[in-house]
Amino acid sequence: MDISVVVPLYNEEESLPELHAWIKRVMEANHFSYEIIFVNDGSTDRSWQVIEELGAQYPEVKGIKFRRNYGKSPALFCGFEKAQGDVVITMDADLQDSPDEIPELRRMIVEEGYDLVSGYKKKRYDPLSKTIPTKLFNATARKVSGIKNLHDFNCGLKAYRKDVVKHIEVYGEMHRYIPYLAKNAGFDKIGEKVVHHQARKYGKTKFGLNRFVNGYLDLLSLWFLSSYGVKPMHVFGFVGSLMFIIGFIAVIVVGVLKLISLSKGIYGFLVTNSPYFYISLTMMILGTQLFVAGFLGELISRNSSERNKYEIEKTID
Ligand code: UDP
Ligand code: MG
Repeated sequence: MDISVVVPLYNEEESLPELHAWIKRVMEANHFSYEIIFVNDGSTDRSWQVIEELGAQYPEVKGIKFRRNYGKSPALFCGFEKAQGDVVITMDADLQDSPDEIPELRRMIVEEGYDLVSGYKKKRYDPLSKTIPTKLFNATARKVSGIKNLHDFNCGLKAYRKDVVKHIEVYGEMHRYIPYLAKNAGFDKIGEKVVHHQARKYGKTKFGLNRFVNGYLDLLSLWFLSSYGVKPMHVFGFVGSLMFIIGFIAVIVVGVLKLISLSKGIYGFLVTNSPYFYISLTMMILGTQLFVAGFLGELISRNSSERNKYEIEKTID
């Protein structure tokens, strides 16, 4: 099979027939063999009935129905598990992404050898309250992930080599960082294609403003996991030792100050009068705690079944 199209959706009943007809038109014009996997993420409207009706009529339509709303990432994850095509395309259900981009996206994967091609909504039809934070967010994601050529990490329209989707685990709300996940799994030929974007035709957006807060927190965890996930002691131990050393120096300063005042015969000088006393107190306590956190982190990562899971591309036996 040439292409699997994975469509996560939550309450998008009006868009589905139109989206299906459009994808079908593009696929047939290009003579691709394909499947469309609709992942119904616990919709409360008629979306699933619509998918069932389409499935009864068209053999290329497949569906997964979640019992409740889990989120876009879990929907993508399950769609990826089911996908059989050599190239996997993901696309939002709300008709904001255009199926006309599919042939070119596929060509970049098949002929130019990209592992992942992300859409870039250069001209967006979203409110300003969304486009400005998005710019900031993408700049941070570029810096942290080291994928310098991507302008738009969280574009719903993306194309993947099949290998990629079978080797990454999209969980929580990590769909915003799939290129970063792919890079961490060793798929680093990541490209970008400018795509058309349209205003939402039916329904309304499913994500509120908290997407930006959560987005940044997720980026932080991803960065931490990919840099220190299997060696937590390296970061906690380092910061902990540093603090402990500062605290220790402060203790010496306090001691010396006390001795000096004693030698001068001043008995009224209390160590608690010196700022170094407080520095030594906090630094030594915090340093020890960080150290312990590091050890606990090591214990947890030693016990994880994932600790020796590596992506082996090929072997010769
Ligand atoms: N979506 C989903 N589960 C959710 C929220 C959204 O499957 O919990 C789907 C949604 O139906 C759409 C896609 O994810 O197909 C992108 O959502 P939306 O268009 O609301 O996001 P935006 O375009 O505003 O970023
Ligand atoms: Mg949308």
